[in-house]
Amino acid sequence: MRTRTLLVAAATAVLLLASPATAAAPAAGADGVGDSYYPTYGNGGYDVSHYDIRLKYQPATDRLEGTTTILATATQDLSRFDLDFALDVSEVLVNGRRAAFAGSGEQELVVTPAAPLRKGERATVVVRYAGTPSAVKRYGFTAWLRTPDGGVAAGEPEAAWWWFPSNDHPSDKATFDVSVLVPDGTQAISNGVLVSQRSQLGWTRYSWREDKPQATYLATLALGRFDVTTSTTAGGLPVVNAYSRDLGDNEGAARASVERTGELVDWLSGYFGPYPFSSAGGYVPNVPTRFALENQTRVFYSPRQFASGSNTSVVVHELAHQWFGDSVSLQRWSDIWLNEGFARYAQYLWSEHEGEGTAAELADWVWSSHPADDPFWTVRPGDPGAEGQFDLAVYDRGAAAVQALRAAVGDESFFAILRGWQSEHRYGNATIAQFRAYAERVSGKPLAELFDTWLFTPARPAAAPSGAPAAASLAAKAEPRSWQKIHQVEHR
Ligand SMILES: [Zn+2]
Repeated sequence: MRTRTLLVAAATAVLLLASPATAAAPAAGADGVGDSYYPTYGNGGYDVSHYDIRLKYQPATDRLEGTTTILATATQDLSRFDLDFALDVSEVLVNGRRAAFAGSGEQELVVTPAAPLRKGERATVVVRYAGTPSAVKRYGFTAWLRTPDGGVAAGEPEAAWWWFPSNDHPSDKATFDVSVLVPDGTQAISNGVLVSQRSQLGWTRYSWREDKPQATYLATLALGRFDVTTSTTAGGLPVVNAYSRDLGDNEGAARASVERTGELVDWLSGYFGPYPFSSAGGYVPNVPTRFALENQTRVFYSPRQFASGSNTSVVVHELAHQWFGDSVSLQRWSDIWLNEGFARYAQYLWSEHEGEGTAAELADWVWSSHPADDPFWTVRPGDPGAEGQFDLAVYDRGAAAVQALRAAVGDESFFAILRGWQSEHRYGNATIAQFRAYAERVSGKPLAELFDTWLFTPARPAAAPSGAPAAASLAAKAEPRSWQKIHQVEHR
């Protein structure tokens, strides 16, 4: 991770030296949005409003082909611009005219339109492509998960490159239509609502629509033989879940967990405010991975999540992300605490609801079970670095930080902050600094020291998160009963 970052940064510097900016002439868009963790992820010079992804997939060979149409607006006069993509491209059109294109670096597709784009101009970009995503490696890996009956695109931060060209950074969210043709008997699962399903001559086309802004890493595609369940919550929200027909012994526990999605969405709404999207659900493909991922409206669960029985805790975690991460998305990857600290804290709230340990007990256990010299405390959840982005400390110290905030501002302000933050930034992006300012505004309390202590200092805070005296915390507490369950599996 570190090596590739440095190499890419060096390449960028050379480019900048070679083409000094002039005010008059259209310039090349940057090859990244300026995220310090991933300098080449996303691109500069334009903003995407919609992706229309139209594909054909052959499960026997893992061959994926088709066209993505991108609606974008230039944010500067553009002589050329980059997309992030890894499959083989055969044609690119910009506003109906053929554009020159070339691969660059690991995942840059450099597009030169026949005519420059003016700042503010709307552009329609059509990319035609094909490939075998499981065989295409970038930075030494593929995020495409091959299954016995198809394939799955799910990964963070990288997943899009293996199935659609994009401005691959969460700061540029867009709506999505995903339409995939598969052989009869195979299903195509994606985000949002299934708007049509048509079969003809042995092939079936599934067309999905996500009508709320969605980060590119939260777009997902699962192709395989699934059993699909549909239901509607008491509040009228459609729930669509899908289970591989090959889950073996994990099938019962998977269904007993994921079928509770509607109930848990309603429960979380009590803390975070109205559910932000037009559908909910999850899918469990037959993959050997261990993680789960909060794809917008359609959570990815590895079967391993259910290997020792039902696991509502992981469902709560991923559904909490529908608010913290998906509706209100991070502005930069360094803001990951806004995702993981709160999704983990939702698991603490669920534990409390289930009578398996209160949120305060869990947060204090994080503090007391890691001695001051444990390297755990060297990770700063507020800026953990690209390598530390999914470190355990981002989750557990991150959730303990949420509890410390609660103790500092009191329950009334705390729950007002959770709900108000969601309505203030719904469908947008935000930073930790903005969250702190918002929490200070709602609570009327200065919080700089608390945020610095819990999120930005590489050392164990002096006091336990609940505010209980340190000695009492250390001596009196036993491990909360939900602790093992919460830590049994890898979350994203
Ligand atoms: Zn998570």
